[in-house]
Amino acid sequence: MLILMHRQATREDVANVVAHVRERGYQPVELPGTDRLAIGVLGSNPSRIRDAVAALPGVVEAIPVSKPFKQVAREWHPEPTVVTVGGVRFGGGPPFVVAAGPCAVESREQMVQTAEAVAAAGASVLRGGAFKPRTSPYAFRGLGDEGLHILQEARERTGLPIVTEVLTPGDVERVAEVADMLQVGTRNAQNFSLLEAVGDTGKPILLKRGLSNTVEEWLLSAEYVLSRGNANVVLCERGIRTFETATRNTLDLSAVPLVQSLSHLPVVVDPSHATGHRHLVRSMARAALAAGADGLIIEVHPHPDEALSDGPQSLTLPMFAELMEELRRLAHALDREMVGAAH
Ligand code: PEP
Ligand code: MN
Repeated sequence: MLILMHRQATREDVANVVAHVRERGYQPVELPGTDRLAIGVLGSNPSRIRDAVAALPGVVEAIPVSKPFKQVAREWHPEPTVVTVGGVRFGGGPPFVVAAGPCAVESREQMVQTAEAVAAAGASVLRGGAFKPRTSPYAFRGLGDEGLHILQEARERTGLPIVTEVLTPGDVERVAEVADMLQVGTRNAQNFSLLEAVGDTGKPILLKRGLSNTVEEWLLSAEYVLSRGNANVVLCERGIRTFETATRNTLDLSAVPLVQSLSHLPVVVDPSHATGHRHLVRSMARAALAAGADGLIIEVHPHPDEALSDGPQSLTLPMFAELMEELRRLAHALDREMVGAAH
């Protein structure tokens, strides 16, 4: 529920409403707006106290938030949220951010070579997994701490901020020490204790959509992070599981404008995991930009055929550079602004 205060409401009126909400067992959140203050009410079934609150001095009205997610909702926060990752801004209109890098950090050479190439092509965030969630326990599961050190070196060499996945609450602290942005992967999108743990870091979070999650479930996962006082969440549509097996997942591009209407959080698209095939990445990347996404996250590898994970969907370095050129032209035509110029 949102309590809308009069423009002329006094500090005492506000304090009185806040105290009333708290006494009734709910959590009040002050939401300063451009022309008036609103007070958000968190907790189960706040409509119970709606009439009582509406009668308090200084209150214009108490409006129920119709969606199960609250702090994530546009109703709660009408302006788009801008999430800043090492100086790079996601969300809020013209900027279009491209994060790129290998699926997994495999070696110092592989990571540094990829990082320098994607930076030169105009990417503004570097991706690479040190801790990899793999379907088979016998597959390459990442270099762990050594991978984090390599990512640190790649950041020093290129100046690009790093996004990398964290798999368990127990790893959050060490990954957060290195990463500029923590990725919660599709398999962990409903690991609620992990969502709370990453929320507690206050760091920017890249939240992938769970592979069988509805948009509402995905936004409720984001709500877990916001419920810990961390609104730095970038949503990532990475395809969902459907009956179609010709592509690795089915890219739900309509989720982009849908999420933008339901939520103030930025949303990016991952055409690599969405399609599973490198030859489909270019079209879906262009489509995501045209659909109004706030950015992309793309897998790139110097030798995709030798990659230890996700080679078939990884672009080669020249393919990535060519795609960036094309996105730059398309962004221009769409009045968008590619963040990070090619050097
Ligand atoms: C990844 O980004 O490499 C990854 C594992 O992504 P997802 O969780 O979307 O499968
Ligand atoms: Mn991958």
